[in-house]
Amino acid sequence: VFGIDVGGTTIKCGFFSDDGELIEKEELPTRKENSGENILPDIAEYIKMTLAMHKKKFTDIAGIGIGVPGAVRDDGTVNKCVNLGWEVVNVPNKLSELLIFPKEKIKAGNDANVAALGEAWKGAAAGSSDVIMVTLGTGVGGGIIVDGKIVTGHHGAGGEIGHANVDHHETESCNCGNRGCLEQFASATGIVRMAKKELAASEEKSVLRDMENISAKAVLDAFKENDPVAVATMEKVGEQLGGALAIISCVTDPETIVIGGGVSKAGQPLVDCIQKYYRKYAFASCKDTQIVIATLGNDAGIYGAAKMVL
Ligand code: ZN
Repeated sequence: VFGIDVGGTTIKCGFFSDDGELIEKEELPTRKENSGENILPDIAEYIKMTLAMHKKKFTDIAGIGIGVPGAVRDDGTVNKCVNLGWEVVNVPNKLSELLIFPKEKIKAGNDANVAALGEAWKGAAAGSSDVIMVTLGTGVGGGIIVDGKIVTGHHGAGGEIGHANVDHHETESCNCGNRGCLEQFASATGIVRMAKKELAASEEKSVLRDMENISAKAVLDAFKENDPVAVATMEKVGEQLGGALAIISCVTDPETIVIGGGVSKAGQPLVDCIQKYYRKYAFASCKDTQIVIATLGNDAGIYGAAKMVL
């Protein structure tokens, strides 16, 4: 089985055995020029070469799963993927034509959803069939797994936790056009924004005060050193995130919540901060849900893509 994770800069490709052993991993550059028309042919070429190298035939392959940075409908249709330059593309149809391989064995999904499936299969939530994953990077992505399956939704926007509206009084705009999205608080950019607000609102001493360019990493490092401004910032971030996760838990009642993305490198202190508020706001039956840091890193996408077709 092939698991492919298409990103804005690189295409990560994994060739797996059907029990999830990663046989080979490869990275290709994402050629976005000409509306990204080379992306699927490049993937097709990689698949053909890998099969030839391992002396396998197409009939030996269980399927091809692909994660894409955009909303993907259940039939694999991507409707405008700005990061790849794509307009409307049906990934299984196109790849099936290029490879002469049955399209029923090709599946496409949103990259954050696919990463959640990867963590649920072989990562931090291995063994859990009900999982929520939230990815804290430049933005906030999310994926919801119910009964071992990705919740895609009608528009392909299932699991867009980053755009859950958590502050109805926010005046600044999110990238999506709304105001008060979780992403404005819990992404790397959001954490910096919150830290700057906290600095402006208090007189507390802080290592952040003298910094010319505050980064999320600087805030998280200061947080671990108990810097009062960084602690106050992360308490607010933790409250927004823990509160949002508590609401989603009322809907899907996950066994495990996974925190991924660059911000999750902050580790256990971040988990503690989220868990404190999660437990405060969650419904009684869901309070003991475990919150853990993702373990597959950048490979979550290829694992999840492979699992999609198994
Ligand atoms: Zn938004």
